[in-house]
Amino acid sequence: MNVARAISAGEAAIASGLAQLVAQAELHGPPPEDEAPLYAARRKIYPQSVRGTFRRIKWAVLFATLGIYYLLPFVRWDRGPNAPSQAVLIDLPGRRFYFFFIEIWPQEFYYITGLLILAAMTLFLMNAVAGRVWCGYLCPQTVWTDLFQTIERFFEGDRREHLIADRQPWTLRKLANKAGKHISWLIVAWWTGGAWVLYFADAPTLVKELASGTAPAVAWIWIGILTFTTYALAGHMREQVCLYMCPWPRIQAALTDEYALNVTYRYDRGEPRCSVKKAEQLRAAGQPAGDCVECLQCIYVCPTGVDIRGGANLGCIQCGLCIDACDAVMKKLGRAPGLIAYDTDLNIKRRVEGKSSFTRIMRPRTVTYAAIIALVGGVMLYALANRDVAGVNVIHDRNPLYVQLSDGGIRNAFTVRLINKEQQPRDFILTVEGIGQYDLEIVGAQERTITVGPDQTREVRALVSTREKLPPHASIPLSFIIIDEKSGERTVTRDNFFGP
Ligand code: SF4
Ligand code: SF4
Repeated sequence: MNVARAISAGEAAIASGLAQLVAQAELHGPPPEDEAPLYAARRKIYPQSVRGTFRRIKWAVLFATLGIYYLLPFVRWDRGPNAPSQAVLIDLPGRRFYFFFIEIWPQEFYYITGLLILAAMTLFLMNAVAGRVWCGYLCPQTVWTDLFQTIERFFEGDRREHLIADRQPWTLRKLANKAGKHISWLIVAWWTGGAWVLYFADAPTLVKELASGTAPAVAWIWIGILTFTTYALAGHMREQVCLYMCPWPRIQAALTDEYALNVTYRYDRGEPRCSVKKAEQLRAAGQPAGDCVECLQCIYVCPTGVDIRGGANLGCIQCGLCIDACDAVMKKLGRAPGLIAYDTDLNIKRRVEGKSSFTRIMRPRTVTYAAIIALVGGVMLYALANRDVAGVNVIHDRNPLYVQLSDGGIRNAFTVRLINKEQQPRDFILTVEGIGQYDLEIVGAQERTITVGPDQTREVRALVSTREKLPPHASIPLSFIIIDEKSGERTVTRDNFFGP
């Protein structure tokens, strides 16, 4: 008797929980159809908050990425007395990029190319292992949209309250909530634009200039542009950016394969969908019954409004929030979690056929991407470790190519640019090799030693003449060498010496 009462109490609890879920389902309406028309007006999405493992991961990533973005410009890095002390700085007037101990000059733009290759390969590798994990957790559009939705919930409540409030006529309270939300969004958007410009100038100085209204106009213009784009993209456009503007979902779809783990509705377990009561009846009659109870919680929490039960979807950013929502429902029903999980359709087919499921991370494509990352990363590290801290470039005068001197000698003129990447002045001796006996005159200088200031370049005119007998139409390879007077370090570049 007691057992029967306990069972019926449990059923009542489940029924009441489900009644709540069904009430929400009615509020939301039916899930979107698979066959969408070519054009459909945007249906506003009211994502419901959710708790669970993937939500916690998303919080951690959100705090980490936003923390880095907003605070990094204030991190200092000592490079000596003549260099900027900001750890990460894009110095456009000085044409330098500083990243902690790395300083990249315009001539070294290949490092940026290497970084872009690394970023692309990392994205491909992430995609090969776990689908659009970038989109779900790390993409700036996802992170800022998540932050804006949190602010929205703070002012307008969770999905249900927000939906109801939006259908009610305007009141003072509704107006205050909406105003509070938009003002907070604008403040966050302004901080986002403000943080961006701090990467292009000394951050503490620029903050003071912004506060006193003396910052350069270009800083205000960029803050204005980024305030507007952040407010529009994260506050208003949200999932439309992922669905219509971003090319990555299309590229990603072409790059994926059957082994990539994706957020998947395990229809082998979930179908046929039916209520708890119906499932019991069907099972008692020896008929199949799925675990999906059609509560629609997975759709309500989805930031892009996708019904993952319809299969792979371009709108699904793989954030895993539907997993958390469904696991919570399964827990309430006393069923095992994982009706929605990171899985593959291949595994579902295998399970349907009575075979075991498996995960294959090591595949030719993942190994290839990892090998390219290791190779490019290794080459970049080697190049950085053995980076030249001096440089020399030479441009030969084109008109005239040579001058015949009154004593019969031939003279060629060059513009020589010396580069000193160290943070102290350096003296370089300029010399040439390749044409036997020669005279080298540096215009405006008494000797061949040239001083170059810290982290600077210096241009000089060099006249090279020879009285050696040259072959007709001579074009003789000529090496320009600069030698650091202190360390003896040699840096070489090549050009040609022309004759009649
Ligand atoms: S998949 Fe899970 S969350 Fe979605 S409707 Fe079915 S039971 Fe509910
Ligand atoms: S379907 Fe699930 S994983 Fe995909 S975007 Fe929606 S909540 Fe995230």
